[in-house]
Amino acid sequence: MAGDTKLVLLGPPGSGKGTQAEILARELGVPHVSTGNMLRDAVAEGSTLGRKVSGIMNAGALVDDPTMAEVVRGRLGRTDARDGFILDGYPRNLVQAETLEAILGASDLDLDAVILLEVPEEELVARMAGRGRADDGEEVVRERLRVYREKTEPLVGYYDERGALRPVDGLGSVEDVSARILEAIG
Ligand code: AMP
Repeated sequence: MAGDTKLVLLGPPGSGKGTQAEILARELGVPHVSTGNMLRDAVAEGSTLGRKVSGIMNAGALVDDPTMAEVVRGRLGRTDARDGFILDGYPRNLVQAETLEAILGASDLDLDAVILLEVPEEELVARMAGRGRADDGEEVVRERLRVYREKTEPLVGYYDERGALRPVDGLGSVEDVSARILEAIG
C-alpha cells in the first residue's frame, strides 16, 4: 500500500494500540503519531506542556481538549504526516473527533479508516498489570478504563455511522493481530 494512509487506532487502554500502531506505521511507511508518547516525552523533558499534564496523566484522567488540539494540530502539520499517519490515542472523545475532522478538512483530507481493537476487559487488566508504566497502578488502570467507557467508547458509534469503523479482534499474538488489521484495511 502507498504511503498515503490516514488511520486512527481506537481501543481501550491495554488493547495493544501502541504496539500495533508502530508495526502498521513501519509497514505502511507513515509516522506513528501517539499522543500518549508525545505527552510522556513532554513530561520527561519537563517542558511547560509536560508540567501541565503530568498530574492529569498520573490520575488516569484526560488532558483538556484545547491542549490536545494544539498538540495534534502541530504534529499533523509536520511534513512527514502530510501523506499519511497512524493516530494512536487521539481522538479520545467526540469533541476531539470533531477537531480532527476540522484539522484534516482544512487541507481537504479525511480519515481512511478507524481500526477498533476489541479486547475483553479481564484481558486488558491483566496486560496492563504486566506493563509497568507510571500510570499502570491498579487504581489508575481502573480509572483509565472507566474514562474509556464513558468518553471514548461513544466514538465507536460515531465512526460506524460514518462507515469508517473496522472492528478487529485484538486477542492472540501480535503478528496475528497485525495481519487482521492489514486485512481489515485492505
Ligand atoms: P495513552 O498512552 O494513549 O494511553 O495516553 C496516556 C495518557 O495521556 C492518558 O491516560 C491521558 O492522561 C493522556 N492522553 C493521551 N492522549 C490523550 C488525548 N487524546 N486526550 C486527552 N488525554 C490524552
